[in-house]
Amino acid sequence: MLARRTGSFGSSGTAAARAAARQAAHSRQEVIDLTAGEIWSELAPTIREGAINAIDNGVNRYTDTIGMMELREALARKVSFDTGQTWKADEIAVTTGAKQALFNTTMVLLNPGDEVIIPCPYWTTFSAQVLIAGGKPVFVDTRSNAYVPRIQDIAAALTEKTRAIVVNTPANPSGAVYDFDTLTAIARLAINRDLWVIFDECYANFVYGHHAHYPIVSVVPEVRSRTIVVNGFSKSLALTGWRIGYLAAPKEVVDAVRALQSHTTSNPNVIAQHAVLAHLERGDGRHESKLALQLASSRQIGLSILSSLRRIPAPRAQGGIYFYLDLSKLRPASKNGRASADDVVTSLLADAGVAAVSGTAFGDPLGLRLSYGIPPEELETGLTRLVDVLNSWK
Ligand code: PLP
Repeated sequence: MLARRTGSFGSSGTAAARAAARQAAHSRQEVIDLTAGEIWSELAPTIREGAINAIDNGVNRYTDTIGMMELREALARKVSFDTGQTWKADEIAVTTGAKQALFNTTMVLLNPGDEVIIPCPYWTTFSAQVLIAGGKPVFVDTRSNAYVPRIQDIAAALTEKTRAIVVNTPANPSGAVYDFDTLTAIARLAINRDLWVIFDECYANFVYGHHAHYPIVSVVPEVRSRTIVVNGFSKSLALTGWRIGYLAAPKEVVDAVRALQSHTTSNPNVIAQHAVLAHLERGDGRHESKLALQLASSRQIGLSILSSLRRIPAPRAQGGIYFYLDLSKLRPASKNGRASADDVVTSLLADAGVAAVSGTAFGDPLGLRLSYGIPPEELETGLTRLVDVLNSWK
């Protein structure tokens, strides 16, 4: 009855894990939910004011398909600041979250059968969107290299059908932050092999210790003409429900995105656009800094609790908002053989009231993702219970 296309993807694994956590919370007193890809926070005052002013002013119309011109100009200034280059409004498209920016990207870049390199473990939507667009995800394993792809592994995976490489740094789920040399090598490879780079930097505001986030277009400026930079405000401003993202790309790509978006969502929500515009014009960076400090502190709390895990190496969590555990040395208490992340997730929920996301959702059946974007007291309780359960396994 349904189109064949529906057989190529399932519902998002992270959304399913979140739904399971909510379901469990109904039947159990308390579930600590470490599944969410979002940050616990108040609304930024500038966002609140911008939205309220827009409503008070009776704003109610469609905007330009790819966002109000003032917002695209403000975003062009932001991207110029982030990259140290000059960007113009006609190189920016505002989208309904970064997810739509990525969806538009695959739809306007891929022909049926085109291959896209995706470092694994990967955020589940990258591969689903490639499949929806009729392309073929080609995974490059990063687990033996601290979750950063080796350039020779990427090169070995290229075929004449390869069209694009996904670069997500800081990475969801692994928390890896790509170093300058890796980004340089990927950019050079893309140039030499005539590939697009889909550069997702949604977690750029959350980088810890001596690590730094490098926009790939700043590392190798010649790669800019073949790069789609994707970002949004879900993470940096803790604004997941407001659904504002953007892409910065060559004008031809933006024009194609405008045409596509005109037939899908028409424009991102106008009140949310006004709110983000107000923030870009009047925000002083304090809210972003507050969130980054909150995350850094939660990360520290979490790392110290997780250091008591016996058979699981301490996660690096160089950036982003997740701890990613490697379960490959864990044995279930009652069974022989390796523990699968799915078993671990089930048992954590049943025995400890802790919800986590199985790496199966990210192409890695031996990984476990824990979000630390929740209030610190809950995080402490959740991780302490998790350590107790996992240390009871062999
Ligand atoms: N890119 C990555 C790597 C993400 O983890 C997410 C959300 O979890 C997104 C994009 C989508 O974010 P948005 O809420 O802006 O659509």
